[in-house]
Order: sequence, then C-alpha cells, then structure tokens
Amino acid sequence: MKPAPANHGIRFRRSDLGGLEIPAVVTHLGGIQYATGLSLKEGSVETVEHLLAALVSLGVDNVIVELNSPEVPIMDGSAAPFVYLVNEAGVKRLQAPRRYLKVLRPISLTQGDKRIALYPSDHFKVTYSISFDHPLLRHQSRTMRITEDSFVEEIAPARTFGFLKEVEMLRQRGLALGGSLDNAIVLGETGVLNNALRFEDEFVRHKILDAIGDLSLVGYPVIGHLVAHRAGHALHTAFAARILEEVDAWKIVEGDERNVAQPVGVPVPVAVATTGRPTA
Ligand SMILES: [Zn+2]
Repeated sequence: MKPAPANHGIRFRRSDLGGLEIPAVVTHLGGIQYATGLSLKEGSVETVEHLLAALVSLGVDNVIVELNSPEVPIMDGSAAPFVYLVNEAGVKRLQAPRRYLKVLRPISLTQGDKRIALYPSDHFKVTYSISFDHPLLRHQSRTMRITEDSFVEEIAPARTFGFLKEVEMLRQRGLALGGSLDNAIVLGETGVLNNALRFEDEFVRHKILDAIGDLSLVGYPVIGHLVAHRAGHALHTAFAARILEEVDAWKIVEGDERNVAQPVGVPVPVAVATTGRPTA
C-alpha cells in the first residue's frame, strides 16, 4: 500500500501489467464468484473485499494498492492482517474534507429470498442475517454501528467460511488450491473442522465484513443503515451499482464522521481530513 493524494481514491495497481490502475469503484466490477473482483481493460484484481473493508473502516480514502499478481492475498481469511498493516504504516490526514454518501430515502434490491436495503441513518450501521441449511447456521443475525473501533474489535477478525463439500467441488475443478484450514472456517456435515471459532457468531460477522467491503465500491464511505438478509457478493455489488443509479436517494456530504456531515457546497467550518482515524 502506497500513499496517494486527496481525491485519488483507492486504486489497485498491477505492477506486473505495466502499472495498470483499476479504481475500486463498482463501474469496474469484474468477476463475482466466491469473492469480489474488479477489472479494467486486460487487467483484473480478485478478492478485494476484505482489504477494502479495512481501508474504508480505518478512514483511508486515498491509497495505491500495488500487486504483482491478480489476487489480493487471502491472509487468514479475515481483515485483521490488513488492519495491522495500516496501523503499522500509519495514516496521514490530508487537507481536504472527507466526503460521504448520505442516504436520503430507502433503496432496496431483492432476488428471490435474498434482500439488501439501505435506509437513512445518522451513522453507518449494518444489520445482517444469514440462514443456511446447516446445523450451525440455521440463523444468525447482528446489528452493529460501524466505527473504526467496532470494526477493528468486532468485525475485522471474523474469517471467511465455506462448506467442505464446496471445497471438494472447487478442488475437482482445480480451484481454491491455496485454500486450507489456515485461511477459512471450513464446515463439515455437523460442525467446524477447524479447532475454534473466534466469535460464537463469526459467520454473520464475516458477512458484515464482506458487505462493508463490497458497499465501499460506491466510492465513498456511506452514512446510512445497511440491512441485508441472505445476501452475498453478487447481491452486495449489484446493490452498490443500484445505489449509484438512484441519484435522488442520496447526496454527497463532507465533514467529519463524528459530527453531522455538511452538504457539499456549504462551507465547512473546520479543516478536516480525507484520511485518518478519529481521535476520540
Ligand atoms: Zn469474505
């Protein structure tokens, strides 16, 4: 990760493709299968969602993410290693106001029994519920206000999960060869194959993590309440695109995340940052 100036945004740079840059916005959405990908011209970058969730939650709006391969390292399947890296490097506050997408009226998208919606709220909150045909995953639901602290403590460590029968199917197709019990929670018929969960409801927490990363592809941190039921990367990213289409459902405001953000065009009383962590 390399520093970038104000209004640069988050961009992936493929050093192995002559420095091709792919902005982390939904207009460059690429392949969506078990992870979220971006593409531009001949280049692509896969599995961006956990890193993006960490960046948006830590207040990093401008950064170059340089890669020498088409995939962000999976690490341990969570966002915790990326949080660690950003905190080790430090974040510089820039002399430009941070911009947010503030939701003015509800927006929703439904596909069968899967649903995702965004409602007006003074803060960024996520409610997620999941239900799978598995004894450990019949129903999990959680609502959280997402701040830097709550993200770091409650969401970032939650690992991705998969079902053993799916892993076997992927391997037969030559995929997920790097997948192991070290970078995902693997569910067998009745339980977890790995020794221990990090949270009792680690699964729904990871879905919140994915949703934060995918939603960040609108290009701004969001002020609103995201509600998702049984969604996944395909619906999250389709919804990010829908949000940008419904231009009367939101406005861009600028300010400080701890105060009421101001509509763009209204003078902001204090100099605030486009990147940086809240000091409170
Ligand atoms: Zn994930």
